[in-house]
Amino acid sequence: MRLIILGPPGSGKGVQSKRIGEHFGIVQISTGDSLRQAVASGAEIGRQARQYMEKGLLVPDNLMVQLVMDRLDQEDALGGFILDGFPRTISQAEMLDDLLQKEDRTLDAVLELKVRDGVVVSRLSNRRLCSQCGADYNLVTKPPKTEGVCDRCGGRLIQREDDREATILHRLEVYHRQTEPLEAYYSNKGHLLTFDAERSVEEVSAAIVEALESGTGS
Ligand code: AMP
Repeated sequence: MRLIILGPPGSGKGVQSKRIGEHFGIVQISTGDSLRQAVASGAEIGRQARQYMEKGLLVPDNLMVQLVMDRLDQEDALGGFILDGFPRTISQAEMLDDLLQKEDRTLDAVLELKVRDGVVVSRLSNRRLCSQCGADYNLVTKPPKTEGVCDRCGGRLIQREDDREATILHRLEVYHRQTEPLEAYYSNKGHLLTFDAERSVEEVSAAIVEALESGTGS
């Protein structure tokens, strides 16, 4: 199965793509995570991408396409994948279409998570992540037992650089302008399944699994 998950920052793409990937036995590929790892490891692509990421801007297509091409050619992606955070522009979507077509691979569905802007701002400004195991918390809806400390591993909780309010607003603006047009792009191809993602993580996952297994969105 080959899937794309779309949605504004904070819509739950990361958590849902992990759950859906596990459910269907396909690899989750997050371009945001790959870029953050490249920044942390000091890799050349990370060095070039960092300035854009910190401002909430999109990393240029030439860097992204290389990153995704290399990743999709790896062994674990040959049996299927769920792409989280790519494509983010029409030109990236066209490049992905070309790439898949050349290799006789097709997309099964594009999952779109719908969340209102106000909910995104509240979710992201309260989001904290464990610096060691990556577990995520929300200061309002899912606070850690001890402030600043991960319940699971005792690691220190941090806020992502781009989860500060001014950057969130900028990321949302970039999403509406550059990524939202993908809704019509994939809808015209008959691939789009849309989900109300203001529900709980479990409810959204259940709706996605049901839609994929029966072929309808909700
Ligand atoms: P995310 O974790 O998906 O929110 O991505 C974090 C940041 O990585 C984004 O704000 C962009 O700066 C960059 N990024 C991730 N995926 C892409 C992409 N497909 N195209 C351009 N930039 C991206």
